[in-house]
Amino acid sequence: MYRIGTGYDVHRLVEGPPLILGGVRIPFELGLQGHSDADVLTHALMDALLGALSLGDIGTFFPDTDEKYCGACSVDLLFRVAGLVREKNYGVVNADCVVIAQKPKLQPYLEEIKEKLSGCIAVEPENIGIKATTHEGLGELGRGEGIASYCVVLLEKR
Ligand code: MG
Repeated sequence: MYRIGTGYDVHRLVEGPPLILGGVRIPFELGLQGHSDADVLTHALMDALLGALSLGDIGTFFPDTDEKYCGACSVDLLFRVAGLVREKNYGVVNADCVVIAQKPKLQPYLEEIKEKLSGCIAVEPENIGIKATTHEGLGELGRGEGIASYCVVLLEKR
């Protein structure tokens, strides 16, 4: 039995915090604003996993009103979501993700991000797709005011 899930997230780029995407620190003059480390890619992936299991979203599990998630490392939260997937007797078949960032260029970091995420969700790196695209200068994302991410995952009953 298979289950599919989709996730989307967006965070605003601001001066101050480091830019973390897929658990990897990317050198850039701006970072993402949020209650946790605002790792937009990892958030979208968690929502896809939770969505596939009809468990709601990351706000249900890790509310941003809860002080204990202030500055939380999103990759640690992804490990916990992966644990929920295992508890439900599912495994990840593959995940496919898009990051929309006008800047910076993410291509040099995609392999490292893939390695990081694959370790978290117990799937081989070749079963994770991560694509980076700009927003062609259109709208808020195109002006570089934020970074967004979409993810789709397929789970299989173990
Ligand atoms: Mg988020």
